[in-house]
Amino acid sequence: MKVTADQSRCCSSGQCVLTAPSVFDQSDDDGLVQVLEHHPGPALAAEVRLAAALCPGQAITAAELP
Ligand code: SF4
Repeated sequence: MKVTADQSRCCSSGQCVLTAPSVFDQSDDDGLVQVLEHHPGPALAAEVRLAAALCPGQAITAAELP
C-alpha cells in the first residue's frame, strides 16, 4: 500500500491521527496532515482505509501496490 495525503484538501480535523496514529500526524504549526509511514504493512491496511474513508476533506489516498 502507498499512502499519500493532499494538504491542500486537509482541514486539520485530526480524524486520521485518531484512526491510524502510526501512519498520520498533524503539523504542530498549522495542524495539517503529515504522513509518517508512506508504505504501511498489511497489518495497518484496514485502519488506513478507514482513515481515508472518514477524512472530511477526502485528502487521503491509499493505493494498493501491484
Ligand atoms: S482526517 Fe483528513 S482533513 Fe482531517 S487531519 Fe486527516 S487528512 Fe486532514
